[in-house]
Amino acid sequence: MSASVTTNALSAPSSSNRSSERMHAAAIAAARRSRGFQRPLGSDNDPLKISEYFGCNTFSFDLMEKKLRAVEVSRLKEYATSGESLPRDLADLVANAVKEWAVSKGATHYCHWFQPQTGATAEKHDSFFSFDSKGGAVERFTGKELIQSEPDASSFPSGGRRSTFEARGYTVWDASSPMFLMQTEQGMTLCIPSLFISYSGEALDQKTPLLKSLSALNRRACEALHLLGHDDVKYCVATAGPEQEYFVVDDSLGALRPDLVLAGRTLLGRNPPRGQQLEDHYFGSIKPRVLSFMMECEQELYKLGVPCKTRHNEVAPNQCEIAPIFEFANVAADHNQLVMEVLKSVGKRHHLTVLFHEKPFAGINGSGKHVNWAIADSNGHNMLEPGDNPSDNIRFLYFLAATIKAIHDHGAMMRMAIASAGNDFRLGANEAPPAIMSVFLGETLDEVLNKLTDGRGGALTERQREINLDLARVPVISRDNTDRNRTSPFAFTGNKFEFRAVGSSASISPSLTFLNAAAADALEVMNAELRRRGGDRPSAEHILALIQETVKATKKIRFEGNGYSNEWHQEAESRGLPNLRTTPEALKVLNQKTTQDMLERLGILGKEESSARYNVFVERYNKIRLIELETLLEMVSTQVLPAVESQISNQAAAVDACTRTLAKTPKAVASRLEGLVGLYGNLVEETSHLQALLGTTASIHDEEILAAKLAGDGMAMMERVRKVSDELELLVDDSLWSLPKYRELLYIL
Ligand code: ADP
Ligand code: MG
Repeated sequence: MSASVTTNALSAPSSSNRSSERMHAAAIAAARRSRGFQRPLGSDNDPLKISEYFGCNTFSFDLMEKKLRAVEVSRLKEYATSGESLPRDLADLVANAVKEWAVSKGATHYCHWFQPQTGATAEKHDSFFSFDSKGGAVERFTGKELIQSEPDASSFPSGGRRSTFEARGYTVWDASSPMFLMQTEQGMTLCIPSLFISYSGEALDQKTPLLKSLSALNRRACEALHLLGHDDVKYCVATAGPEQEYFVVDDSLGALRPDLVLAGRTLLGRNPPRGQQLEDHYFGSIKPRVLSFMMECEQELYKLGVPCKTRHNEVAPNQCEIAPIFEFANVAADHNQLVMEVLKSVGKRHHLTVLFHEKPFAGINGSGKHVNWAIADSNGHNMLEPGDNPSDNIRFLYFLAATIKAIHDHGAMMRMAIASAGNDFRLGANEAPPAIMSVFLGETLDEVLNKLTDGRGGALTERQREINLDLARVPVISRDNTDRNRTSPFAFTGNKFEFRAVGSSASISPSLTFLNAAAADALEVMNAELRRRGGDRPSAEHILALIQETVKATKKIRFEGNGYSNEWHQEAESRGLPNLRTTPEALKVLNQKTTQDMLERLGILGKEESSARYNVFVERYNKIRLIELETLLEMVSTQVLPAVESQISNQAAAVDACTRTLAKTPKAVASRLEGLVGLYGNLVEETSHLQALLGTTASIHDEEILAAKLAGDGMAMMERVRKVSDELELLVDDSLWSLPKYRELLYIL
């Protein structure tokens, strides 16, 4: 592609006609090639290894060790894990050290970086610039500024927890997650990962409950380990590795789709003759333009200390995945937000729009976020790793049983944790688990547990490679050697669980928070029972008996079959497992007394905080659906119907011409026009229904009633309008259709 052609292709379209704009955008998209955007770090002959620059833009504990005295760093570490607020003297020292470092790297500003209940991140920047006592210009940053800031918070969702006259919210430094420098072409900003709480200390963000859930889990997991005889364990922490799926489309095409711009998904669009049926995209060779974009993203993320590991194409055309090496859950949650931000911003440099929506294209696989989860102790052991000896395996089986119990007892809460307007399109479609929660263990482990519970012990098949069942009847368990089951929402994969039902656009904080909560609750019940039976030092027999009973009592949550099948829906119903299909139904769990009591008892969310969160989520669902409906109305009224009307005029003129020439109207010609006019009539009618529906929603002031209406009538309406419009897409002159089509969005890169 010569430079002049590229430049011409990138200039403004000469005609103001929308459809020619679409053609023009398609030409731009096709003309774009990967260009050297940000070069790899180092020189061409001597590029830097990742290990040489990993984390160079984070203020890690290692770096602190260089900048502060050892005693100060160890004090800081203590505060970082205890969750208590930092004393001023220590805060001042840290603030000064981080300022020196940040300014030396070119930072001019700092911001408290936090995660309000919008699923995104928020930031308010202040400069280090100040005046000293003599009026001289200096860079200054105090401990007070580091620890806390007070953004004007009245516009963040609070679910009724703040009235406007009491709108203060505070961001508080989360010392457990490293500060980092966000780089743009113009310079650097120091970002301070923070919590966001109200004046009276209630959580207004996603991160505060996550940290509290980690501390709830820590307490119960340590208690369990001490009962099992692992006295040397000091703390336990959940670990998480989120696999992030996303789509990329050329931004010149994306910009011409009001639905992608406003709703993040296509509300209209016919499936092209070629979708994903050739199955040639999954793990296929990555297009150079996309690969160049991925590499630049990874370079940015490595600088920020995000340990990216895997990149590949996903099942659908233009769908990709990025996965990091797992980390402590609180850091993984921050890092996943950074991954999404960096993908978006680097995408812009590559003229790519990155879509995180769970179902951007109808009829094509949607995107999820597989959140891998386990629990690690202070000695570096993974509680979900089968061990080599009976003692490690007792521990493994105890935590495995507790996790199964967690999902058994709190399946509906876990469904609530992943509920969102976008995920409703994906769950239960043919690429994601249904809205029914179940646990998949794999053949080997399923068999081990079955044998444990029927009291037979011994005699496992050769293939399962179990030995040693006699030793206190504790099996030695071989590592995962079974097939993957991609249809399960919560699957054991060797040494961790994979929570597969999480939506791709969601923050992982809520799913981790509720998973930690469920696990903490299950452990608490089991620990209490164990203590009741065996005191502080229960015997192996006591422990094993409790494991057996727990596994037996929770059997109905385990499902090894095909989660996508209709039979499973029936079977799940007969087992009494909830199937909460829509977000409004699923969210109700958060407003129920039993859920709220448990979250309060575990110290994760007070009852009022849970209710407030429920309000925020319901309102958010309604806002998203209303944006979709309004956008659909606008697109159909201003883009689809006018194109259809032009088509009718053109076709009517053609019919006239035929009739004049032949002195009669050929039947096939007449019926082609009639078909078009018939669908036009349908679309006009459906559009007026859509308008009427929007009119009625305006008068519903109860958010729950509105949510039910939108999930029912609203969704059905969108489907009906779409069906007619997609049929018309095939009947209208391609040059009159102003919306970029699926074949362009999915195949041009
Ligand atoms: P797959 O696609 O086969 O499921 P990937 O390698 O893409 O596997 O992703 C697995 C994810 O699970 C990675 O992010 C990995 O770091 C993470 N993981 C591995 N072990 C643990 C663990 N103990 N706790 C949490 N996450 C883990
Ligand atoms: Mg996976």
